[in-house]
Amino acid sequence: MHSVITSINNAITLAQRLREISKNIEDAEFKNVLADLSIEMSDTKLALAQVTEENAELKSELTKLKHSRGESQSDLIFKEFAYYTDSDDGPFCSGCYDSKKQKIRLSPVTGHFATFGRFKCPSCEQRCG
Ligand SMILES: [Zn+2]
Repeated sequence: MHSVITSINNAITLAQRLREISKNIEDAEFKNVLADLSIEMSDTKLALAQVTEENAELKSELTKLKHSRGESQSDLIFKEFAYYTDSDDGPFCSGCYDSKKQKIRLSPVTGHFATFGRFKCPSCEQRCG
């Protein structure tokens, strides 16, 4: 992007030099075309500045978005066999969260089935705890 601005600035400088040279030329059409060219390049420079500004805004929005997504992904804390939120909500299945980024609440297992694990994931059937 920087090199485009540089080349437009160079073009504007060249047009200014042409305008200096044209002082010795008594051709109205040449001067008109040169004036049009200067206006055109100034407009291009302005448009490019807007695009650069927009680009910077989009980049910062994207950074914010990536950041917020990163935060929501790391809000679970692993304890013993499962994930919990920092407010101790849980447990959530570690297998489902690690593989699919899904927060699946583990169901408590009661009775003699509890020997295989006190909790069971309703999604992947994983027993743990
Ligand atoms: Zn699971």
